[in-house]
Amino acid sequence: MTYSGPGVKTSPDFPIPDKMKAWILGNPGELKLTEKPIPVPKRAEVLVRIDAVAICATDLEIIDYGSPALIQGGKPFNKNFTPGHEYMGTVVALGPGVDEYRLGQRITVEIHAGCGQCKRCREGMYTACHNYGLNYGDVDKGHRANGFTTDGGFCEYQVNNINTLVAIPDAMSDEEATLVVTAGTAMYGLTELGGLVAGESVVVTGPGPIGLLGVAVAKAMGAQPVILTGTRDNRLKIGKELGADHVINVRNEEVVEAVKRLNGGKGVDYVLECSGATNAVTEAVRMVNRGGKVCLAAFPHEEVQVDVPHIVRNNIYLYGIRGEGKTATHRAEAFMSQKRFDATKIHTHTFALDDLPTAIRYAKDRVDDAIKVVVKAKGVAAHRVAAE
Ligand SMILES: [Zn+2]
Ligand SMILES: [Zn+2]
Repeated sequence: MTYSGPGVKTSPDFPIPDKMKAWILGNPGELKLTEKPIPVPKRAEVLVRIDAVAICATDLEIIDYGSPALIQGGKPFNKNFTPGHEYMGTVVALGPGVDEYRLGQRITVEIHAGCGQCKRCREGMYTACHNYGLNYGDVDKGHRANGFTTDGGFCEYQVNNINTLVAIPDAMSDEEATLVVTAGTAMYGLTELGGLVAGESVVVTGPGPIGLLGVAVAKAMGAQPVILTGTRDNRLKIGKELGADHVINVRNEEVVEAVKRLNGGKGVDYVLECSGATNAVTEAVRMVNRGGKVCLAAFPHEEVQVDVPHIVRNNIYLYGIRGEGKTATHRAEAFMSQKRFDATKIHTHTFALDDLPTAIRYAKDRVDDAIKVVVKAKGVAAHRVAAE
């Protein structure tokens, strides 16, 4: 049988096989390589040939513990579920009526296609969709979050709502394109709730992928100074290359004091918290000045104590973000295609899709100083990509 569906357009230039390789989640921690039929796009959807997919800390969380993935109302284990959400590729089939993208177009994808009909989706906050995970059986609200509530990218093809696509220029490599959504998450963290204003001072805590690209985005948005805190000097060094004016190794210095010293004694206007450390919230609220803002983009596993009196007395804004809403990914891509920063500094390794377990081990154990590890279905032998 050849690939087809009602009103679906394809091209002989991009032949689509009957089946694809796909990794699926068995028991906790267990990934199996299998074959799946290739999904067919419906209204407002396209089929994406996945050319590259990056591994995210949240994938590791889902593979071992299940949450925050939600499949058929429960944990994602033994449900034929394919994880993976930071992917990019080529549009190879158009659903009925789709004319916003063309066959052969290179795109990267955001994770969340909200239901489009709840209060938050209507506000552009589709990563906070009130119908999260309701996309099956009698409660099908059309919500999709690749690799969270619907099949993701550790496979060769996936359907995507056109609202989740971001066109990319030819000059952007596959690997760089997988980082657009990471930069988009940092962008969302910096621009919501009134947002960062050019010339304001920023601290980014935690030099993981979102923190490092948070530095880059904040600098590109005109923040001054941008201060990065962390525990590993090699990561802090990359932060400097991405635009941090100052870095603080929290093992060597009292971090709140150091931030104040670097910014005229008053603390900064904005903190983007990306470390998830237990003491991070209390430190963050002490790093901002009165009336300052703290955005939480990471979290510890246990509940933590927070200095509420300090927050109230100082009129501090404290809020959490989920993912990359309000088309922040498009804004991040605009910075990246203009080469306002070089996101590829955080890409360290590429493996073949068949080697996903090795790639995951590199990401999880930070083998060989791995930061962002990418897998590709085609045209790659397992190899290390030199981190420049
Ligand atoms: Zn991610
Ligand atoms: Zn919604």
